[in-house]
Amino acid sequence: MNDFPIESLPYGVFERNGNAHLGVAYGEQIFDLHAAASARLFDGVCDASLLTATALNPLLAAGKKTWGTVRERCQALLAKSPGDEHFVDRAGARMRLPLDVADYVDFYSSEQHARNLGRIFRPDAEPLLPNWKWMPIGYHGRAGTIVVSGTPIARPSGQRKAPNEETPSFGPSRMLDIELELGFITGSEDIFGLVLVNDWSARDVQAWEYQPLGPFLGKSFATTISPWVVPLEALVPFAVKPHEQSPQPLPHLRVQEDFSLDIALEIDLQSAKMRNAGVSAVTISRTNARELYWTMSQQLAHVRSNGTQIRPGDLFASGTISGSDPGSYGSFIELTWRGAKPLALPSGEARAFLEDGDEVTLRGWCERDGLHLSFGECRGRVEST
Ligand code: MN
Repeated sequence: MNDFPIESLPYGVFERNGNAHLGVAYGEQIFDLHAAASARLFDGVCDASLLTATALNPLLAAGKKTWGTVRERCQALLAKSPGDEHFVDRAGARMRLPLDVADYVDFYSSEQHARNLGRIFRPDAEPLLPNWKWMPIGYHGRAGTIVVSGTPIARPSGQRKAPNEETPSFGPSRMLDIELELGFITGSEDIFGLVLVNDWSARDVQAWEYQPLGPFLGKSFATTISPWVVPLEALVPFAVKPHEQSPQPLPHLRVQEDFSLDIALEIDLQSAKMRNAGVSAVTISRTNARELYWTMSQQLAHVRSNGTQIRPGDLFASGTISGSDPGSYGSFIELTWRGAKPLALPSGEARAFLEDGDEVTLRGWCERDGLHLSFGECRGRVEST
């Protein structure tokens, strides 16, 4: 199956002769935009400097109209096969972070996830807090520790205190987790495209630090994104009716012709023992982005509602995407109910949270009317510190 058809053309940054080049994934190849722009194949479409840059930011800043014309020219060029010198094999390519992330926001927009975490963290209270259905709850994360798929994840240390302990202690997290999310990347006004996001989370650190100001060091040590940014324009065929909302949001959060996206998502896990025995990764969760309660337009409208400016290269992540049945939860803390129901792996091992050597791979794809497109993968392996 072709994960990267001409209808998709996601953007990424890869290494060629030691330099960072912008490219688009096309079948098993990467179309080298740096090479093509240097050969004047984009003359009359945009300034070549947008495509010879070492990150997507100048293109993001150029705005929606330019994104459309660059994409059209890519499709036209690929349809008539430009020379071999403009392509490299995708399989062997070393990918870099596709953009310099400006600001990073992480939302909390899956109702099932919010309810699950409410039950786990505050068992004696109503799981959903009173503000949740009135606005997309979120927090500002740490843009500087966003890394590209494949980057090793060092187990973070932090301060934690279990309920049965009298005082906190400092040391490596004992409850290292993942969060399966999607993220969108903006220009200065519009949404450019989407990536997979793994919001690595140290639950023991989070549980002790999060009140009253929210997540902090339990989430700022690493966030992994997939290397290919799928243009929003390529996802139009997969737009679906948004989640029903009750109560109706306030007027500034009502968006005309709003949509959600039908994107299948999964989490794969392979332990070191499995890897050494040649056992393939096992899928531990399957869900879909259409489960999200708040839409991307509403999230953006909410962020802008106080007058703040968004910047080219801002990243907005959805929050963990959990479906209604336990096989569709997007984190270990939900899948194992804070460790009470460990997952059984094919190697005979059990997992409450991540162990050193575990490798997590998030995948996402869309399918409709014979059109298939992929988000590629968002991978990270836990290393001891
Ligand atoms: Mn998150």
